[in-house]
Amino acid sequence: MHHRPLKKARPEAATGANRKTGLVFVISAPSGAGKSTLCRAIRDSFPDLQYSISFTTRPPRHGEQNGVDYHFITIPEFEEGIQTDQWAEWARVHGNYYGTSAGFIDCSLAAGRDIVLDIDIEGTRQILKRHPDSITIFVMPPSMEVLRQRLETRGTDSSEVIAVRLKNADNEIAQKDLYRHVIINDRLPQAVAELTAIFEKYRL
Ligand code: ADP
Ligand code: 5GP
Repeated sequence: MHHRPLKKARPEAATGANRKTGLVFVISAPSGAGKSTLCRAIRDSFPDLQYSISFTTRPPRHGEQNGVDYHFITIPEFEEGIQTDQWAEWARVHGNYYGTSAGFIDCSLAAGRDIVLDIDIEGTRQILKRHPDSITIFVMPPSMEVLRQRLETRGTDSSEVIAVRLKNADNEIAQKDLYRHVIINDRLPQAVAELTAIFEKYRL
């Protein structure tokens, strides 16, 4: 009798106490949908989650700290990282470079830490190639009009920057089916509850 070979389970696929490597959570959203607000809200609930701090060539916004919100680096530094394979993924988003340190991800996962990546869709595609079991979450605004209002109310970006981000949002929302979970951030407490439930489901 011919037996099909048993598929070997990938370590990332395991859940619960017996798993050895960490899980990769990826969160994406059109700019202004409320991803940072949601992530801030769940940080306290899951203090052992490791947030990857991305590298970017974008100038810091008022109040942003180097090494906390992002590692702010120059364009030559970023491009050297591309040459030397430092990035687990990288993309040009809204005209700036953004990237995730491969060393950080590999060390955290090997140490059994679960990590959260806040990256765009292009980056998500690259991470899914390296880590196919990543738990991907897309945060949507309730409407484009609300998205525009939130970007204006946040007050961190010029009207030109807001226009670029709104234009990109349409394109990003059209690709949301890449993600395993989609959350609509209409009322914040409900969106926080939905995100919390996703983390609990996989981390139990
Ligand atoms: P992102 O990180 O996705 O770019 P932010 O978290 O900075 O977005 O949110 C954009 C703006 O919208 C902020 O001013 C934030 O306070 C506000 N905001 C976020 N979520 C909600 C919500 N559910 N209802 C109303 N305003 C929100
Ligand atoms: P912001 O400039 O508003 O902080 O981020 C703009 C966009 O860049 C967001 O969609 C955010 O998810 C994305 N981003 C932030 N860090 C990274 C990263 O390391 N890689 C990729 N691919 N996108 C990132």
